[in-house]
Amino acid sequence: MASKRQIFVGSLPIGGGAPVAVQTMTKTETANLTATMDQIRKVADAGADVVRCAVPREQDAEALRTIVAESPIPVIADIHFNHTLALKAIEAGANCIRLNPGNIGGREKVAEVAELANRRNVPMRIGVNSGSLPKHLHELEREAPVEALVAAAVEFVELMEGLDFTNFKVSIKSTNVPYTIAANRQLAEKIPYPLHLGITEAGTKWSGALKSAVGLGTLLADGVGDTIRVSLSTFHAEEEVKVAWEILKALGLRERGPVLIACPTCGRLQFDMDSVVAEIEQRLEGYEEPVEVAVLGCAVNGIGEASHADFGIAGAKNEGLIFAGGKPLRKVPQAKLVDTLFEEIDKSLDRGTVEVDEAEAREGAAWLAKIEEENAGDLTPEKIAAMEKEAVEKGESDRVLLDEEASPTAGRRFTRA
Ligand code: SF4
Repeated sequence: MASKRQIFVGSLPIGGGAPVAVQTMTKTETANLTATMDQIRKVADAGADVVRCAVPREQDAEALRTIVAESPIPVIADIHFNHTLALKAIEAGANCIRLNPGNIGGREKVAEVAELANRRNVPMRIGVNSGSLPKHLHELEREAPVEALVAAAVEFVELMEGLDFTNFKVSIKSTNVPYTIAANRQLAEKIPYPLHLGITEAGTKWSGALKSAVGLGTLLADGVGDTIRVSLSTFHAEEEVKVAWEILKALGLRERGPVLIACPTCGRLQFDMDSVVAEIEQRLEGYEEPVEVAVLGCAVNGIGEASHADFGIAGAKNEGLIFAGGKPLRKVPQAKLVDTLFEEIDKSLDRGTVEVDEAEAREGAAWLAKIEEENAGDLTPEKIAAMEKEAVEKGESDRVLLDEEASPTAGRRFTRA
């Protein structure tokens, strides 16, 4: 379950059942105000709820005054090794301080930061990294790395509680996905504080996105995790935000912008679907509405499994079909399929309803019926799936029917207001 406790980073609630917050980190020299503010605006536009900036020098702490004042989203100061910088970042107005109590120079220095943070009501993210556990846990780390990570996190929690500081969230970071999953599951059972999830040094946009989707997605589907950061080796921090949103959207935890669904294609494909899907995906980035768009490589199955989509296309050799809400809208030449799709989307968003030309819809339905009839005996992937489902429902198969409505994340859904 989501954490019992809630904290506020600026005005953003984290934990206690609040929507899972999307976080990223600027990749600029923080003191370079032009570059840093430019990146913060980009990540905020992409949907970041909160942004973290590295503070390795005094001028970075000083720059936070301007950054916090101008940023459209709360700003977290990322501090390592130097508690003086943590104090300066709080003085400069940072909305949260990220520090690892294990590398800040001892209990006295942590206490000094906690005391000021308490007075200014500034929360902290405290955490442990698999590469930097306290010495007394090294032996346990060799034998049971997950337990060592959890033990370190619990020790830090107890340290902060002993300092009368409870305004924090906790993170356990590891480059190892199974360790991250196991450690966070255990930690969620032991402490009531919000958890920040991330896979350390996940990798490139391709491998990092996948590792994050597996690691963070598994935990979020269990209800573990209150804020996430996808770490990617790219200077474009907004890419991290886009991946994070895809994870949350895939789990039905949050909604933002369009959803694109597309068939995997097969030997029945008769047009260049690769480039059509890429163009649709790119054009959809310009929309904020949660419109669902389906792309089918052929019309052999009818509209079938894409009938729940708000809009869709089913392509064929020379022409294709535009459909909306499971019903044909019109048949158009292949070359005009994408442009017409977007014209229909734009019209419906402008008018708040899909306008149907009955004659064109009838023509589209007849075209679809003809293709379905011509291919009635064809066993497509979709038809095989439908036959299997029917067999289970009739009790003719011992397979288990997946209840797609019974989402493991049910109850934590929300719409971004
Ligand atoms: S049969 Fe299914 S997978 Fe193959 S092209 Fe048609 S819609 Fe796509």
